[in-house]
Amino acid sequence: MQHPATAPADATRAIHHGESYAAETGTVMPPIYATSTFAHGNPGGFDYTRSGNPNFRILEGVLASIEQSAHATVFGSGVSAITAIASTLSQGDLVLCEENLYGCTVRLFEQVFAKFGVRTEWVDFTDSQALTTIDERQPAMVWLESPTNPLLKVIDLEAVCSAARSAGVPVVVDNTFATALVQRPLQLGATLSLTSTTKYINGHSDALGGAVCTDAPEWHGRMVFAQKALGLMPSPFDCWLITRGIKTLPLRLRHQMASAATIADHLAMHPAVNWVRYPHRNDHPQQAVALRQMRGGGAIVTIGIRATREQAYAVCKALRWFTMAESLGGVESLICHPATMTHAAVAADVKEKLGISDGLVRLSIGCEDPEDLIADLDQALALLS
Ligand code: PLP
Repeated sequence: MQHPATAPADATRAIHHGESYAAETGTVMPPIYATSTFAHGNPGGFDYTRSGNPNFRILEGVLASIEQSAHATVFGSGVSAITAIASTLSQGDLVLCEENLYGCTVRLFEQVFAKFGVRTEWVDFTDSQALTTIDERQPAMVWLESPTNPLLKVIDLEAVCSAARSAGVPVVVDNTFATALVQRPLQLGATLSLTSTTKYINGHSDALGGAVCTDAPEWHGRMVFAQKALGLMPSPFDCWLITRGIKTLPLRLRHQMASAATIADHLAMHPAVNWVRYPHRNDHPQQAVALRQMRGGGAIVTIGIRATREQAYAVCKALRWFTMAESLGGVESLICHPATMTHAAVAADVKEKLGISDGLVRLSIGCEDPEDLIADLDQALALLS
């Protein structure tokens, strides 16, 4: 049979990931290679699972395929992937970071890598002045995240990457909130695209994982080295789950993004809601950039409700279909109240500077029926009237 010559689209590549190591059996799904070690001299080139396993290789193949990158390296969590990249830095190196980075990235830099002499400076990359900072400060690395957590700031990745390229500085983009289906940082000029595969990529809140994609062979070498030398590898079982999860990523995301846009519009009209933040809405401060670089507004909606800290907490607890929990990106809807959860330990003045108010709530829209989610939000918000 003649195979089509055109490149397959995302939904096809997410499902047909090539190698399954199953030529002998015809198995449709890959097995789980639960082995710590491999016989020396095997044709796959495997030696020990800390430095590679068929389940890693299968997942790396599909991740590189949807990211359209030359290489992907998998890790045990998103934080392991962040650690792998940060471990390439040396004493005295400066990292210019977006000021609204994910909290555990901040903690790693400030409480771990700072001890080894890695310095960080925090910049608002939505401000065009930040571009000149790259040239002035000559950092070893620029670290971005877009959209950011939980405020959904959208950074012009192409503009920052182009300024960094002129200064010879590598750029890392944490692409967890968007995924490669919505935004491809490498095509916008980034050196490394990092994802917590725990979230949308796996999509079922039952495994942890992380990945780094790159087109640069030297960076790929560094990631493979970090996976093995720092023991940052995932388990074969988690890779198997994530490989299974990724098959429905295009379907899930399409539904979740459509629901998120509808829910954002509904909440914007609600009397108990002060403001709504959703990247593709026309009241988003960086909507133009979001429309240019994101093929969809994502499936996170952040809102500010007219409520005290206690009232906002009560609203979250009154929901039936949204579980109040950290994390995001699963088939089930989740709600997070940063003031009492992720940012509970953050000093009041820092929270204020970051824009984390008592009424701020982050919604991760799942695959449920959007009408049910809207009815649920309405009944919980009615507590405030
Ligand atoms: N990056 C972002 C933007 C995240 O939201 C998270 C987790 O919430 C991570 C990285 C870390 O991922 P993991 O929990 O898989 O370590």
